[in-house]
Amino acid sequence: MKSAKLIDGKVKIIDVNKPVLNAKGAIIKVIGCGLCGSDLVKIKHATKENEQNIILGHEVVGRIEEINTDIKNYKIGDIVALGHHYPCLDTKNCDFCKNKSYSMCPTFKKSNIFPSGFSEYIKVDENHLKYTVYKMNSSLKEDEKAFLEPLSCCIRAIKRAGFEYGIDNKKYNTLTIGLGSIGLLMMKALKAFDVNAYGFDISQDRMNLALEHGFKFDENKKYDCIFLTAGNSKAIKTALDCVINGGKIIVFSSVELDEAGFSNNDIYYRELSIISSYSPGVEDIELSSILLNEKKVDVAKLSTYYSLDNLEQAVNDSFNNKVFKAYIKI
Ligand SMILES: [Zn+2]
Ligand SMILES: [Zn+2]
Repeated sequence: MKSAKLIDGKVKIIDVNKPVLNAKGAIIKVIGCGLCGSDLVKIKHATKENEQNIILGHEVVGRIEEINTDIKNYKIGDIVALGHHYPCLDTKNCDFCKNKSYSMCPTFKKSNIFPSGFSEYIKVDENHLKYTVYKMNSSLKEDEKAFLEPLSCCIRAIKRAGFEYGIDNKKYNTLTIGLGSIGLLMMKALKAFDVNAYGFDISQDRMNLALEHGFKFDENKKYDCIFLTAGNSKAIKTALDCVINGGKIIVFSSVELDEAGFSNNDIYYRELSIISSYSPGVEDIELSSILLNEKKVDVAKLSTYYSLDNLEQAVNDSFNNKVFKAYIKI
């Protein structure tokens, strides 16, 4: 079967063996997979030494082809979307799960789909079925279903900011800085959490697109909470300029290694909370499935389709900001 692999810094489609179901779990025929900003970062920073370990593609939607499980009532033919990592959830013996730092749990870091999302078939294990795989509403288009994992990452960030789903959070104003697909998704998720969502980007095109989705920037406002979905010193400065004293900044992206960070005294004298959010917890994936399936978060018409053979083109177009969100149909 076809599968994407990074070879000498280039994305290649190679022929590999189809995964075999030799334990509890499932084989999933991949229908498609979103291209994530983290895939781009991995490609950009790949080295000769680490590239063979890089797994490209994790925003998978697919059809269950073979199954061997006693957990949920999945059956062959079910259309599912999934997350690729799960934590151990052992709050007695795992310090990370104890602190709800799920993405720091060694089990989380070790677990993954096999061989990668940009493959014709993948294998998931029993814990994937238990914690990260969800049936998706047939009225959603395939690219919309593939937002399960990225939306779950946004949900975790919003919860880390202290917002709870299902209560009225309208007295809070938030600003998302960086209006690529994940920034727009963050604002849509914030709206679903009943939080006032504003957005800013240095690109006027992206500001215009956000406006089409109902999100604007108000330069006269100070914001209770900032979501940094862009990583650079300019974005950090904008965050510090726009956040209210005593407010929160949620760090949701990396910066280049030589870029500056936050200054101690800015944080201290203004009593700012700088909080990071990395990857989702299992309950975030569950809420993500609900918000997508019940269309509380609308992700229609955000994706541009590419074939697996054109993955490299999708990567280049994404690096050059030619597309908003690339979806690889497999
Ligand atoms: Zn992702
Ligand atoms: Zn753990």
